[in-house]
Amino acid sequence: MHHRRRIYEGKAKIIFEGPEPGTYIQFFKDNATAFNAKKHEVIDGKGVLNNRISEYIFTQLNRLGIPTHFIRRLNMREQIIRSVEIIPLEVVLRNVAAGSLAKRLGIQEGTPLPCSVIEFYYKKDELDDPMVSEEHIAAFGWASPQELEEIKALSVRINDFLSGLFLAVGIQLIDFKIEFGRLWEGDMMSVVLADEISPDSARLWDIATDERLDKDRFRRNMGGLIEAYQEVARRLGIMNENELPRPKGPVLVNNVSVL
Ligand code: UDP
Repeated sequence: MHHRRRIYEGKAKIIFEGPEPGTYIQFFKDNATAFNAKKHEVIDGKGVLNNRISEYIFTQLNRLGIPTHFIRRLNMREQIIRSVEIIPLEVVLRNVAAGSLAKRLGIQEGTPLPCSVIEFYYKKDELDDPMVSEEHIAAFGWASPQELEEIKALSVRINDFLSGLFLAVGIQLIDFKIEFGRLWEGDMMSVVLADEISPDSARLWDIATDERLDKDRFRRNMGGLIEAYQEVARRLGIMNENELPRPKGPVLVNNVSVL
């Protein structure tokens, strides 16, 4: 049971009030949804893996000087974050054609794009998150022109960093979705990376085999989602073999002498 006040519940995460003013707790659920929650399932252990993978990535980004909402991981499913005002945009960065872009433009999935492409979607479940242009964003005031410039610049840096991080462990970063928030410190406001970065929000393909190591396994009923997320965590070196998110019973320890 969680005794903290619930601020917001989304499809895969819950935000609770945090231990100090200006902080929230981000709780990762095991729920998997796709097609705006028309497809829904609970996948044991997914939240634990996403918490760890996202912690790892946000920690590295903070170190690089890319501002994020992440403070620290609290436990298996929770992290402490700075409270920010979420900018109602889903920012998608694409390096290789896949998913909705491949479908919409009739491009074979897996075709590298001539240059990386940024897209914006207006976060509105009732409307199925429609794609919008910078003109719409400015006209409706979802983000100011300065904020949008900052969002684009940060997104490109995040893409460069993530592409290299995954390439080093034999994974190709096809595309990903990120969200930003406004962080207030006194009278000062800055734009910071918020939400999560995990195989729920990025397409990750094994370089050698093109095997999908991301949520497409769920969207496309391929099975093996937990195993794929575990493989991503293992390659990034953030979860060892004995630390399974859903324990399968006693683990045989072979380097301890019993007698
Ligand atoms: N994405 C996401 N949440 C969404 C929509 C997309 O995290 O609500 C991610 C998705 O995992 C992929 C990228 O954004 O890495 C691009 O998704 P796309 O537009 O191809 O949509 P999809 O095919 O997932 O419907």
